Amino acid sequence: MPWSERQAAMLQEMGIRCWFPAPPPQGEADRSPLPPAERGVGTAPAALRSGEAAAPVEVALGDVATLGWDGLRSAVAACTACGLCKGRRQTVFGVGHPRAHWMVVGEAPGEQEDIQGEPFVGKSGQLLDNMLRAIGLGRAEAQGLDGNADTELAAARQVYIANTIKCRPPGNRNPEPDELARCEPFLIRQLQLVQPKIILAMGRFAVQSLLRSSDPIGRLRGRVHQYQGVPLIVTYHPAYLLRNPEEKAKAWDDLCLALATATATAG
Ligand code: URA
Repeated sequence: MPWSERQAAMLQEMGIRCWFPAPPPQGEADRSPLPPAERGVGTAPAALRSGEAAAPVEVALGDVATLGWDGLRSAVAACTACGLCKGRRQTVFGVGHPRAHWMVVGEAPGEQEDIQGEPFVGKSGQLLDNMLRAIGLGRAEAQGLDGNADTELAAARQVYIANTIKCRPPGNRNPEPDELARCEPFLIRQLQLVQPKIILAMGRFAVQSLLRSSDPIGRLRGRVHQYQGVPLIVTYHPAYLLRNPEEKAKAWDDLCLALATATATAG
């Protein structure tokens, strides 16, 4: 999409010079050899698009790998695999296009997410939305494409956002290794269903889960990693950026790297 004045102004304000490659002409963006029906494009359950709750159904964690969207959502809603289920108002599943080209992986729900049942709706979420908007991406409703969610254009513009764990840790404490491990099959299945073309891993818990690395973000960012053959870009968590605004410029660099990588992959 062409540069909007708003995008340019946002980046200029941060002192960032960033190259945004031109997107392929409409209709050529999708180079997948599979027809849309076989890729599941347009087969999102209504519940996924509308945010409607699916009936909770308890599922053995070993069976998660076989679930479709409806089953996965129900399994998450019913999960009691760790102690976080005791303190949650509700589980926070994930949001966005079911075959989004971009998948954003965060950490854990906070208070607002626990109340609203959607990832990144608090202050960190506002920053994340602004960052995504600056490169022409967003959640479905932010894109004004809700009625058009089956198109490849929507999949290219609407991200899918999920957390590493689906329940709010008490007092927003860090997730514990056991909680991360028990919740991991859900994230893995979301990644398998979305089949993103690029993954943005935000913060150390996303990185620990997806890259199995405990290196600091500062050491991992700035290059392209791989998760199961999908390019993965590491960047700072928005909550960290809110506490350390001087690091925002690096996060913009990471977004630029992700955009250039996604564009090169699509081409
Ligand atoms: N931080 C996260 O990592 N995820 C959320 O959903 C909210 C804040």
